[in-house]
Amino acid sequence: MCTPFALHRPVAGALPLVLDSPHSGEFYPDDFDHAPPREIVRQAEDTHVARLYGCAPALGATLLEANFPRAYVDANRSLADIDPELLADDWGEPLAPGRKTAQGIGLVWRLARNGAPMYRRRLAAAEIRERIERWYRPYHAALDAELNLRHREFGSVWHLDCHSMPAVGDERADDPGRERADFVLGDRDGTTCAPAFTAFVAATLADLGYRVAINDPYKGVEIVRRHGRPAERRHSLQVEVKRTLYMDEASLLPNAGYARLEADLARLLAALQRHIRGELVGASGLRG
Ligand SMILES: [Zn+2]
Repeated sequence: MCTPFALHRPVAGALPLVLDSPHSGEFYPDDFDHAPPREIVRQAEDTHVARLYGCAPALGATLLEANFPRAYVDANRSLADIDPELLADDWGEPLAPGRKTAQGIGLVWRLARNGAPMYRRRLAAAEIRERIERWYRPYHAALDAELNLRHREFGSVWHLDCHSMPAVGDERADDPGRERADFVLGDRDGTTCAPAFTAFVAATLADLGYRVAINDPYKGVEIVRRHGRPAERRHSLQVEVKRTLYMDEASLLPNAGYARLEADLARLLAALQRHIRGELVGASGLRG
């Protein structure tokens, strides 16, 4: 039986830097009876994202990756972001379907990326609760634990919530038909981390030759909203990388750009390693 996540701890010189990849899981549970073919459903995945940041533990960072697919239950949604149209029976508590549910991509996706219905039936509330307990909650508990561990140890923690995005917004996206930047950083309009953290990541990526957008079209969703509390020195930033930089969007196979992106993400993490060490020295200087 597959575990909900894989956790890769630092192998040397642990830093308060935690990465999570909630959407790169490729284990499809037997009861995920989606209607469209698997290759269409897989278009939802941020395929390869955890592997692209695979050097994180060698650079002192922690890397958490989900093993389950986001179309089955989406770790980057709130628990009340459920579409009543999906349910065969009563949820039993108030629901708060948001914009993502309206787009068909709430906690449990109603639509595949091509707009086709994900299921031929409605789902029992108990089935969705089982997905939450078996996959969603353990993932969030592991992320909480790692962030708390480093925050206790260092007094601050920096967190990258790592994703990938289609090169062009589809018709239900907030930016239909528009070609996206290479990276989109989301800090929910400056509320989930210190502005200096967003600026540092943006400048580092720009120096590496990438086009970077901030909060457009992705501002960050549930994971950075839950974990980013800059007043408590908990800094969370959502990082979206354009899929065509590293893979073919139809086959999901790595393309000729994969190795360059992987090497540049290692450069980004090395730069963050230096940045965070500097911030920690500055903080201890203030305390002293
Ligand atoms: Zn994602």
